[in-house]
Amino acid sequence: MAALEEVRVGAKTLDRLQSILSPDAFGEALKAAAAMRERLFQRVVWNVNSTAAGGGVAEMLQSLLGYTRGLGVDSRWLVVQGNDPFFRVTKRLHHALHGEPGDGSPLGPDEHEIYEQTLGSAALELRRLARPGDFVLLHDPQTAGLAPALAQTGVHVIWRCHIGSEDPSPEARRGWAFLEPYLKTVPDFVFSREAYVPEFADHGKSTIITPSIDPLSAKNQDLPADDIAAILVHTGLVEGPVPDGGSCSFLRDDGTPGRVSRQVDVVRSGRAPAADTPLVVQVSRWDPLKDMAGVMDGFARLVTAHPELEGELVLAGPDVRSVADDPEGIMVFNDVVERWRALPAAVRDRVHLASLPMDDVQENAIIVNALQRHATVVVQKSLREGFGLTVTEAMWKGRPVVASALGGILDQIEDGVSGVLIADPSDPNQLAEALCAVLQDPERAEAIGACAHERVRERFLGVGHLVHYAQLLQQIDTEGR
Ligand code: UDP
Repeated sequence: MAALEEVRVGAKTLDRLQSILSPDAFGEALKAAAAMRERLFQRVVWNVNSTAAGGGVAEMLQSLLGYTRGLGVDSRWLVVQGNDPFFRVTKRLHHALHGEPGDGSPLGPDEHEIYEQTLGSAALELRRLARPGDFVLLHDPQTAGLAPALAQTGVHVIWRCHIGSEDPSPEARRGWAFLEPYLKTVPDFVFSREAYVPEFADHGKSTIITPSIDPLSAKNQDLPADDIAAILVHTGLVEGPVPDGGSCSFLRDDGTPGRVSRQVDVVRSGRAPAADTPLVVQVSRWDPLKDMAGVMDGFARLVTAHPELEGELVLAGPDVRSVADDPEGIMVFNDVVERWRALPAAVRDRVHLASLPMDDVQENAIIVNALQRHATVVVQKSLREGFGLTVTEAMWKGRPVVASALGGILDQIEDGVSGVLIADPSDPNQLAEALCAVLQDPERAEAIGACAHERVRERFLGVGHLVHYAQLLQQIDTEGR
């Protein structure tokens, strides 16, 4: 088996964004695009991460690579093919950088050996592919260990990290101490927030780039209400007649037509929610830090305290067999199912645990899109969050988002204006209260959703991301680093 696998991404043109962006922002994007095309003539930009689907990094690579390829830039995406022990170590590192112990396993010499074994073969392949002058963007802890093999090759390495924590806790220090030796030769780093820059990278050459979404991707493209209904009824997420003219067709990111044909595997005891039942929705990987169980707990308290309030909860995540780099998925999903079984029947009937099919990433994306658009409230009750793409996605769709006041979410939402923040995410009562307030005041919910949409247009669309990358590459070339 190859140690690296390439993900093919189709080209997309920036023109499609003209109707969405302000003239100034569109003009700036075109300028950055032209500069990037010139700078990268006959050079390749390699991106390396550890999964082709599931999670925010895969989501962003799909869209950014599409646009850069549309410019004529040869940008490529390689995925490290790890084994279970490797992903156990990298998931442990992921938790550590968030300041959490994860499964509490050590991060010692044995773990270094496991880590280096997988990355050693991947590094050999990468060295064969990348030529002097090329850029290699290594994403997150799963790929940091590839950097030493690229030193002195004339390839310019950038390490981009999407996670971090504000306070230098012992766990975070342990995680960084594991990674630091691999990153010694890396000249440039990219982080999602200033507060995440670790001490050793705080040398003036770390750039902050905010994660973004593509408004035209299958995940975020506009969908007519009838199509939303058709997709949700077809997949079994919602019950009801399909409106005349409602269709399961959609536009794939490469411009070709797609169709939702699969159904969603849902754990539920009652019926699917009716089309007009208000839905509270969280879409996340099945990860302990996304706290799906905590969302269920908060929702249970809401319905117990306010039995008169209409509403059901959908917790949706990828089918756990499909996310290559996340060994905790099955465990977390099973735990949520077990807790769901223990709920009082009246609450249990109103909670739906959805495993979304991942065989076709674009089909998965359009299902998420329809579900987020249909939601009355979108929740992101993370216990830690680098930067929640699901938050931005829901805001773009004009949904009121109730989310934890931590990490990147603090940059995404202004409390009470473009969303609602929960001060203590570990307290399910706070979630229940916030949900109650939003569900009881549809006018306020709508106003929050409208502000949220504008905030995303101004700050969190992928073109801004492209402009930042163009500036970074220019800086690197002109400073000769
Ligand atoms: N996602 C998805 N299908 C799923 C669950 C999640 O496409 O079944 C996507 C979600 O829409 C978002 C990304 O995965 O684009 C999650 O990114 P986020 O930054 O919220 O969290 P991460 O998983 O990177 O920690």
